[in-house]
Amino acid sequence: MKEKIIEKLLSIRESLKFEWIQEDETLLQKKLDDHRSFSGKLFLLGTLIGSGLWIWDYVTDPVGAKDTIWLRMFFFIFLPAPYLFRKITNRLLLTLLFVGAVLLTEAVYLKILTRLDMGMIYGIAGFMYYMLLPPLAFQAFSLRANIVYVVMATFLPHLLAWSGFAPGFQHDHYAVLIWPAAALAILIQYFYARDYKKRYELEKELERMSYTDMLSGLNNRRHFMAFLKKEFERYRRTGKSFSLLMIDIDRFKRINDTYGHPVGDSVIRTLADIVRDEIREMDFPARIGGEEFAVILPEIDAKNALKVAERIREKAQNHPVDIPGGEPARFTVSIGVAAAGADSDETSLIKEADEALYRAKREGRNRVVLYDSSSS
Ligand code: GH3
Ligand code: MG
Ligand code: MG
Repeated sequence: MKEKIIEKLLSIRESLKFEWIQEDETLLQKKLDDHRSFSGKLFLLGTLIGSGLWIWDYVTDPVGAKDTIWLRMFFFIFLPAPYLFRKITNRLLLTLLFVGAVLLTEAVYLKILTRLDMGMIYGIAGFMYYMLLPPLAFQAFSLRANIVYVVMATFLPHLLAWSGFAPGFQHDHYAVLIWPAAALAILIQYFYARDYKKRYELEKELERMSYTDMLSGLNNRRHFMAFLKKEFERYRRTGKSFSLLMIDIDRFKRINDTYGHPVGDSVIRTLADIVRDEIREMDFPARIGGEEFAVILPEIDAKNALKVAERIREKAQNHPVDIPGGEPARFTVSIGVAAAGADSDETSLIKEADEALYRAKREGRNRVVLYDSSSS
């Protein structure tokens, strides 16, 4: 019984850490970027509504409304919102700026109500806007910031009234109307943030899948071509050359024919593991065809690329794939190596590595050949 209570308390403590909705740096950045334009426009709307509702002051109390014109002008504080949302890159600064600005206008609105006959009775509903528009516009920010805002916006009028800023403020009227709205606003924030996170994770997964070859887990051909292009750009910028390995499994058709397609797939996966083991973190391995692999080796010259290729070749030769109830299936690979030079580009480099590979095949397979321009 005691243990159950402790367990329950621990789980409550866990949930208070907001673990039900963790928003990481990249998610928050994306959330902001996705909503910059939306949020800027909504705040602009806030300017129109906040100042335009002077008409409401006039209708309820034409005399008092003369007094509130200047206070209503204060809502023009949101006029530069679209610009600020476009320009400010610091998320915390933007959050503090807008939460602060909204709370200031809330205080001003409270002041407006004190200037109007019956303002405190009729005007209470106006606080609803503070539970509606800013929470929508704050979708650009984190869920935590949103919740903190709603709580602050809910209690600010109470606090100001208690400090004598707004005589006649009806705490009970305000509370019955606005507190439930605040609870609703927080719930809506939570649902929205949770959905956004789900969508974000799905997008990330789709992006990862679009770059990955499912069988080997290595990069796919499309990602390889994009990386090769970037690598050439880097080479031209920094002058640091790189090498390319083109790897092809020898007599792979025979492996398929002898042991069946599933064993062929295991050989592909085994080779992928070998390649991964033999290269550095910064190298880029890809499966670019059926049983063809390519590896980009940044900042590696031809001589060292040959060493890497030789290690891969040797390891493949010594890594037979287990066959259920039979002799392990041996396989070998041929590798062509080419180093990027001053006048090579994506197409020519791939062609050179391919040429070296085909020479390795011609010369008897299970070997590494460096591209040699004089022999072609
Ligand atoms: P070589 O030594 O000249 O490279 O001979 P090879 O038999 O390896 O060359 P070839 O290109 O003629 O055959 C490649 C074979 O790879 C043909 C195809 O059936 C097989 N293959 C392509 N993709 C896959 C795959 O995803 N899984 C399996 N198991 N086999 C594949
Ligand atoms: Mg082959
Ligand atoms: Mg092939």
